[in-house]
Parts: sequence; C-alpha cells; structure tokens
Amino acid sequence: MKKSAPRKCRMGQSHFGKTVIACVPIRKGELAFTETGDITSVQTRLSYQVDWDKHYEPHGLSAYLNHSCRPNVGLKAKPGEQPLFYAIRDIAAGEELTIDYCSFEYRTKVLADIKCLCGHDNCRGAILGYAELPPAERAAYGQYLAQYLKTPKPHKR
Ligand SMILES: [Zn+2]
Repeated sequence: MKKSAPRKCRMGQSHFGKTVIACVPIRKGELAFTETGDITSVQTRLSYQVDWDKHYEPHGLSAYLNHSCRPNVGLKAKPGEQPLFYAIRDIAAGEELTIDYCSFEYRTKVLADIKCLCGHDNCRGAILGYAELPPAERAAYGQYLAQYLKTPKPHKR
C-alpha cells in the first residue's frame, strides 16, 4: 500500500464554529490539502463555483474553510474541475486557514445576507461575489481565481 503524505491541516474550532487549522507550517505556494467531492449544478452553503453553471460540493476539509477578506489560502480551479487549495502566504502551525469566497463565487446568493466578521481593516462588511469585487482586488489574486471567472459570462437563456 502506498503511504500517504502526512496531513498538513485538520478540522478545528474557531469563534465562528468549525474551521481548518494548519498542523505544520505551510509555505507560500504549497498545496495546503487535498480532498474529494462532487461536481454538481447546485450552489450550496458549502459549495465552490467552478464554472458558470457548475459547483464543487466538498467531502473534505474545504467544507470548513471560512471566508476572509484578507485570506491565506487561494484556489486554482479549471472550469468544471475540482479546485486545489494553495497557501498564498506563509501559514504558521496552529493558524486558521481562510479563503476569499469572491475568488470563486460569481454571486454569493446563499450567503449574501451574512455580515462578514473577518475583522480585517479592509473587510468589505459582507460576503459578496466576484461580480462586486473591485478590479484591483480581482487583479491581486492573479492565478488564484476560479478560471471560469476569466471567461465571458454566458447570456441567460
Ligand atoms: Zn471581511
């Protein structure tokens, strides 16, 4: 049997509830964790949008990844494929992992009424989508955006 690499992250608790915690230091650019899930056509509270009409429903740690307006994790996701989660800066052991939901959701329909409590100076106050993200913040994520966001939005049928 192939021995799997030691897990870099685990599920933990924060003041928001369940979250993802680093077990070891994770360097900027490193894959933070891997997992599996399903690609569906339904947006849920846990899903990640990976195409204009496709959503990734996680079965692993990313189900507990909380939003921050100044995150330490970013994703790479080809259209319609499972996303991969990378450290976008050095993360210390014991630190909570967070991701900006604007980097993959075009519109956060199911979260739009929730106030953001990430506490950063640049907090947007709400959990919005890429559609509302200012151009400078879009550009700052560079490669750590769901790829479909860089493709033209299809016209509604
Ligand atoms: Zn915030």
